[in-house]
Amino acid sequence: MARKMLTRFAPSPTGELHLGHAYSAVLAHGAGCATGGRFLIRIDDIDGSRSREEFVGASLADLAWLGIDWDGDPVRQSARLGDYAAALEVLRKRDLVYPCFCTRADIAASLSAPHGPSGAVYPGTCRNLPDAERERRLAGEPHCWRLDMARAVAQTGKQAWEEMGHGLRTADPLAHGDIVLSRKDAPASYHLASTLDDAAMGVTHVIRGADLIASTDVHRLLQALLGLPTPLYRHHALVCGPDGKRLAKREAAASLASLRAAGIDGPTLAADLAADRLPAGYSLQNP
Ligand code: GLU
Repeated sequence: MARKMLTRFAPSPTGELHLGHAYSAVLAHGAGCATGGRFLIRIDDIDGSRSREEFVGASLADLAWLGIDWDGDPVRQSARLGDYAAALEVLRKRDLVYPCFCTRADIAASLSAPHGPSGAVYPGTCRNLPDAERERRLAGEPHCWRLDMARAVAQTGKQAWEEMGHGLRTADPLAHGDIVLSRKDAPASYHLASTLDDAAMGVTHVIRGADLIASTDVHRLLQALLGLPTPLYRHHALVCGPDGKRLAKREAAASLASLRAAGIDGPTLAADLAADRLPAGYSLQNP
């Protein structure tokens, strides 16, 4: 018998869910249910400037309309800030993180900033500040906390994860540079929060869009650093609109609310998506 899976869907309440989210939720829900396992919802609501409570309710209503049910209450990232802070403290004690005072403009202005899989790679300006300057600035300047990636990788060595149906993939966290673990405006970055949550929730299979595959380089490293289990991963194809571009939250036409308002039957749509059948004009593409 197939191993019981625990899967999850983790919307950020920063806009309305669209067909791409529905596809992801349907795949994760289906995988959990097919094995007699469990399916959880996590609300990624730590981005205080962009998260809105109305989108939490709207997202849950959309999932219910699709006929997707979930186990227990949705997990809220905003309720787990203590766990994120504790993990950051563990890394701080091991001298693997440092405060960074740079602004976005400072980083953009740095001629040496090359690009990695998830944007500009931090040039390391604050990595080796003299202790006295660091202490002085820590007391009064806004700062984020960055992982010293070279040091972290030196501790963990090479890591890999199993991509379902594709075998082992080697993680390349070094390509991301010194990523942010705790932001100036949010108590944890997506990378830290998501990695800790998946472990705390007991997620066995992370099923999410291929746009997040590069993040798994970093998540795998954080698992190794923090002694967390490694789930299996499936990074699925992305739903693209009639223009061939992947859907964005601002595109109202593909929002689940507008499909519902147009009289589409939710469970029928969910069954179609589970079979990779998309409404006319939409397609699945691997980036
Ligand atoms: N909250 C993330 C998003 O909406 C997804 C996180 C994940 O699946 O790891 O893009």
